[in-house]
Amino acid sequence: MNRIEDFIRDIPNFPKDGILFKDIAPLLQSPRGVEMCLEELLKLIGDQKIDKVIGIESRGFFFATLLAQKLDAGFIPVRKPGKLPYKTLSQSYALEYGEDAVEIHIDAIKKDERILIHDDVLATGGTAQAVCKLVEKLGGKIVQCNFIMQLSFLKGKDKLKEYNVKSVLEY
Ligand code: IMP
Repeated sequence: MNRIEDFIRDIPNFPKDGILFKDIAPLLQSPRGVEMCLEELLKLIGDQKIDKVIGIESRGFFFATLLAQKLDAGFIPVRKPGKLPYKTLSQSYALEYGEDAVEIHIDAIKKDERILIHDDVLATGGTAQAVCKLVEKLGGKIVQCNFIMQLSFLKGKDKLKEYNVKSVLEY
């Protein structure tokens, strides 16, 4: 197993029939896999200065914390409603059926701080777009949205046109 994609497992019909779920659990079980993936994510950022790295609940947390450490930046969790203990700002977004929301602590970002947004998978882009709105409402500057993988056929990048969107893998 020499390639990052070797550590990504396909799970058919999860969480619903007809969805092929990309599972990073095998990657997380491999110190070598994690090291390779972290290196590639860091290459996407290059020498851009980052003040804070946002990890999107929950699979975004793993690499966002590692990236924050490597970049000498702070880590910010963005979570599903009701999970963060302090005062929050909330942003709702549309799902195929219904809607969901993401929340951030109101003191997580200072004006003009340079923000990297990270998640494991970019699918339709609704989640990342909502996170971008939270960052901008708090006065942060979005330097990059980066992902381990993007599912190109779901056109998530179209929702993030004004941002610098990168991923290690594309399906
Ligand atoms: P989006 O809002 O449709 O782009 O969905 C992105 C969110 O759903 C991310 O937080 C992902 O963790 C999760 N997600 C969507 N598809 C997958 C998948 O195939 N594997 C793992 N997570 C996924």
